[in-house]
Amino acid sequence: MPQQQQLVTIQCPACGKTLAGWATQCQFCGAQTGHIPRPMTPQMQAKRELGMSWQEIAYFILAGLWTLSGIYGLLQAFGVMGLGDVGFGAGFGGTFSAIQFLLGLGLLTQNEWVVYIVRIFCYLQILFALLGFVFSFGAESTLAVLFFLGYHLFQLALACFQLYIFSVVSD
Ligand SMILES: [Zn+2]
Repeated sequence: MPQQQQLVTIQCPACGKTLAGWATQCQFCGAQTGHIPRPMTPQMQAKRELGMSWQEIAYFILAGLWTLSGIYGLLQAFGVMGLGDVGFGAGFGGTFSAIQFLLGLGLLTQNEWVVYIVRIFCYLQILFALLGFVFSFGAESTLAVLFFLGYHLFQLALACFQLYIFSVVSD
């Protein structure tokens, strides 16, 4: 049976009993039900209204966040926010932010090379998060250990979520 029709029910035109959406014949009176129009589930309706799946929406939110954090980092690096410092740190931060900004734009335009690069970033992030887990136990207090574990868990979850979204949207 098609997965989308699992939650949909129809009414038998002959006996009025409730039937599963995939039924082509009434199980109670044997009437043909294949021609009855199927109502849409709320999920299908939402998808039709937006024309996008939630994964696609999440994809564009993530792409927007990459772009925005790139812009934010650039502003910081150039001292526009009053937080930046001049020197190596600012130069490094600026370069990193510029890359992040360009990757964000690439994601927004669904450039497949950019998606590929960002996927590699995600795998690196997972690797660093796993290393972070190990090093978290070296922190001085229990509170610090918990804080670092939580932070790396968040990084890990975020990277996995992005990989999931990219695999759904780009395929
Ligand atoms: Zn019936």
